[in-house]
Amino acid sequence: DLLVVGSANADLVTAVERRPAAGETVLGSDLAVHPGGKGANQAVAAARLGARAALLARVGDDAHGRLLLDSLRDAGVDTGPVLTGGTPTGVALITVDPSGDNSIVVSPGANARLTPADVRAAREVLASAAVVSLQLEIPLETVAEVVRTVGPGTRVVLNPSPPADLPAHVLAACDPLVVNEHEARFLLGGPPDAGPEPGATPGPGPYEEWARALLGRGPRSVVVTLGAAGALVCGPGGTSLVPSPAVRAVDTTGAGDAFTGALAWRLGVGDGLEAAVRFAVRVGAAAVTRTGAQASFPTAEEVDRL
Ligand code: ADP
Repeated sequence: DLLVVGSANADLVTAVERRPAAGETVLGSDLAVHPGGKGANQAVAAARLGARAALLARVGDDAHGRLLLDSLRDAGVDTGPVLTGGTPTGVALITVDPSGDNSIVVSPGANARLTPADVRAAREVLASAAVVSLQLEIPLETVAEVVRTVGPGTRVVLNPSPPADLPAHVLAACDPLVVNEHEARFLLGGPPDAGPEPGATPGPGPYEEWARALLGRGPRSVVVTLGAAGALVCGPGGTSLVPSPAVRAVDTTGAGDAFTGALAWRLGVGDGLEAAVRFAVRVGAAAVTRTGAQASFPTAEEVDRL
């Protein structure tokens, strides 16, 4: 069974002709409110595939919190561990311009109040999970406490997004550390323009070196997602490229969350890392064929048809 520990946000989206300058007001399209946050996204992705998945997160006692709980339950996520109250639900304020570029302000709200004490109080839920999946939209000290609290029988999957420097004991627990090109670049400490062009390579190329360098930082295994090119799997046994099926990409929002949620679930039901990645690239590919984040996540049947 999968336990995701992470964020839940309401994404408030409006389309604008152009972004407002300082002191300026522009009009946007009708507001769309979508359930989001990396933690909730991963849990929904896994549950929609048929996983038994629970989410440990915090939302406010407000309309956005209720919207998020409803969408989690609709997808089949066990919301028993979700904590409520204290502060407003986390919100992402998103404007989209005609070229499709986003400008986003995140108000972490209740996500910032998911504390190490909350983790200790959920000790039993953590102990019963085969896999715990983590991201970094909650406090790093909370992530570190999860790693300290899980038992030796629980596998830890971490997607360090948004990227931050990780304590050694957190890195050492990751099996795998899951990064996209941007996160890999950050963790390797390279200047933003060093290394291969994002998305430019159809194959593993220099990314193999990146994956091995990341493995050298201490995780037990590393997965580097490469968009349309698929993903690299890197462990003590070596590195291999798992290609993604070719699809017509419409909207890549949430692809990484769908990938990681699927990967963590498959690891929890006993797949080896490479087999789990072979499944996860198909889930990621299916997710880019539809718009939205959670709305784009496929069922197992839809993955089969790919
Ligand atoms: P992120 O969304 O975190 O930047 P990626 O863009 O690497 O992550 O996408 C994660 C996964 O989603 C990829 O490994 C791949 O399986 C799938 N994916 C993403 N973009 C495409 C695409 N254009 N075509 C096919 N699969 C894709």
